[in-house]
Amino acid sequence: MTDYLNRRRFLHKTTALGTAAAALTLSADQNQPAPPAGAPAPLAQGQRPYRGPSVVLVRFGGGVRRLETITDAEHTYCPFIYHELARRRGILFNNVSIEPNPRIVTSHGQGTLYILTGRYDRYEDITHRPFADRFEPKVPTIFEYFRRHYDIPPHQALIINGEDRIHEEFYTFSNHHQYGIRYRSTVLSLYRYKSYLLREQIRAGGMSEAELEARRARLRHMENLDYRVQGMPDDAPHVVSPELNAFWRKWREHYGDSGLVNPRGDRLLTTLALWALRELKPRLLMINYQDPDYVHWGNPHFYTRSIAIIDDGLRQIHDATQADEAYRDNTVFLIVPDCGRDSNRAMPVPFQHHFNTRSAHEVFVVAAGPGIAHPRAAVDLPRQHCSVAATVGRIMGFPTPEVDAGAGALQEMLA
Ligand SMILES: [Zn+2]
Repeated sequence: MTDYLNRRRFLHKTTALGTAAAALTLSADQNQPAPPAGAPAPLAQGQRPYRGPSVVLVRFGGGVRRLETITDAEHTYCPFIYHELARRRGILFNNVSIEPNPRIVTSHGQGTLYILTGRYDRYEDITHRPFADRFEPKVPTIFEYFRRHYDIPPHQALIINGEDRIHEEFYTFSNHHQYGIRYRSTVLSLYRYKSYLLREQIRAGGMSEAELEARRARLRHMENLDYRVQGMPDDAPHVVSPELNAFWRKWREHYGDSGLVNPRGDRLLTTLALWALRELKPRLLMINYQDPDYVHWGNPHFYTRSIAIIDDGLRQIHDATQADEAYRDNTVFLIVPDCGRDSNRAMPVPFQHHFNTRSAHEVFVVAAGPGIAHPRAAVDLPRQHCSVAATVGRIMGFPTPEVDAGAGALQEMLA
């Protein structure tokens, strides 16, 4: 329910502040500022060139049940994922669970961090504001492991985020002293695009001083939202990666300044992923789909339709990798929900929420691509949701020393 309220709160704020809030963005996270005074000495970034497969990690969010996705071959709402990826090209783990512990919350931010860090944790919002969902992982994310081990530029370790989960913009690095900001992932989202746009508009000028100041204030506000880069020297130059600037420049040429022409919702995430594969050539790409969660509003059709939209998006992304020399036969797809949903027969829509019920803990993993085992049957032995991080480490060949040692990688796909 938290995220439902959070979404309502966000929408309310957006309406209240009009375009200012709608244009909220954050540029600082795309920068490479110096570490704050007193920070531990950085470790040298991995110098090893990366020659392994690329990985497309798909968060099947926000929260889906097995029942509408992988349980029933005849009635699945994601036939491409089920028949083509899981059955024909890969493997299905149909008995994956988030640890059945009432302290381990089944919601979107938490589930995303279990995937990213390989550990369950009781995350507390560190801003102490209601519904802020600002969580800080204490152990590294897979992006940090990857970038520390290999010579990978920031724009090739990407997370694609939706429009209205601003707190997720900050799940890009942990506060682990040996990893952290230096090895963080880079986010592509409309939020980031709008910050790029503001910087460009301010640079171009050609407007009244009042308008210019309003844009500067908005940009400052956005940059200050990332409390975790606060404390950096105020005069640190905002050096934005040239690759990302070039990416957003092309996006702007194509879609313009309004933010209204481009696809919306999870279709936008698919479009951003297709552009990223073409323009930035990421080696590790995570796509945080979210729209099935609109069923919190009470309309079951939102949910099933969103599952189908994600399925169609994955078909397009898979086709794109097969048509691209850089990715063909060298890309592994991993699909995992952030959490399940309730199966509450007392509710008109049994899967409307995800209140830590048994069903909300029940998820699955689909894996497909080169090097992934193709057994005849699905793996129905119990497996842990947080195993995905160690699995990505095994596929890409980097160590993941801080993952939950008891969970381990999903061995059967690596056999
Ligand atoms: Zn939700």
